[in-house]
Amino acid sequence: MGTKMLFNDSIMDRKKVIDIEDRGYQFGDGIYEVVGIYNGRAFLLDEHLERLQRSAKELKINIPYSVNRLKEQLLELVKINGLKEGVIYLQISRGVAERWHQFPVEEVAPVLVAYTKEEETLKEEEDNGATAILTQDIRWLRCDIKTLNLLPNVLGKQKATEKQAVEAIFHRGDIITEASASNVFIVKGSVLYTHPANHFILNGITRRKVIDLCNELDLDVREETYSVSDLLSADEVFITATKLDIVPIIRIDEVLIGEGIPGKYTTRILQAYRDIIRETSNENGVS
Ligand code: PMP
Repeated sequence: MGTKMLFNDSIMDRKKVIDIEDRGYQFGDGIYEVVGIYNGRAFLLDEHLERLQRSAKELKINIPYSVNRLKEQLLELVKINGLKEGVIYLQISRGVAERWHQFPVEEVAPVLVAYTKEEETLKEEEDNGATAILTQDIRWLRCDIKTLNLLPNVLGKQKATEKQAVEAIFHRGDIITEASASNVFIVKGSVLYTHPANHFILNGITRRKVIDLCNELDLDVREETYSVSDLLSADEVFITATKLDIVPIIRIDEVLIGEGIPGKYTTRILQAYRDIIRETSNENGVS
């Protein structure tokens, strides 16, 4: 299981292939995507590949071959690895070149790698809720690009882990942006709020799907900023991300959110989201 990888355009045995002067390895000069696999089917693959193209364009990295071919190769990889529940991890670095900060003068070939990883959804946390911590957002100002530079996210998640929390929610000054590896929604009365999709956050694929879903369910969802005290006094808080799906947050640091149990809006949205996943992963289509 999971023994094959995609290296550029070839599916091969998983082995060490990265050069010590790969710019992804040395500078974090590259981009990535994580795609959820449910019941052997890729969920929202086209959306992930579209975001990959956007990240590539912003950093002037060339995707080495057509996105249609890449899609075929990723689906083939899932099939060959027999992955049922998990994720595809895909990254493209600018390539291998003598170590200088600026882009290589001579055109270098980008290095594309993808592999699969078994991973279950966090069912227990989805059903019962989980805790989070608050920490300062110390990232750069292009959080909209899905780059390999994840040190502030790593440090945030580690801090959360040390406190037995699932996530670190970031605040930039008084504004809640997102979390270390997920987007954050709050519910106040009958209105949902989430930070607008600008350079302060990654526009999550799950986030977008949840917004669409709220519109379908006739829930009032607003892409507006909200403050730390809005978060802590919210009726409900939940986080969204690939394969984590939707996890209710019932306590942040020492503060209970609402009644300290998953709220009714969150539960309803989670149910609808699970239905979409179930329908999509039972279809004959590929994504
Ligand atoms: N924000 C950040 C910083 C993330 O790392 C992630 C996970 N990739 C998300 C949000 C959620 O994005 P998605 O729903 O596309 O997984």
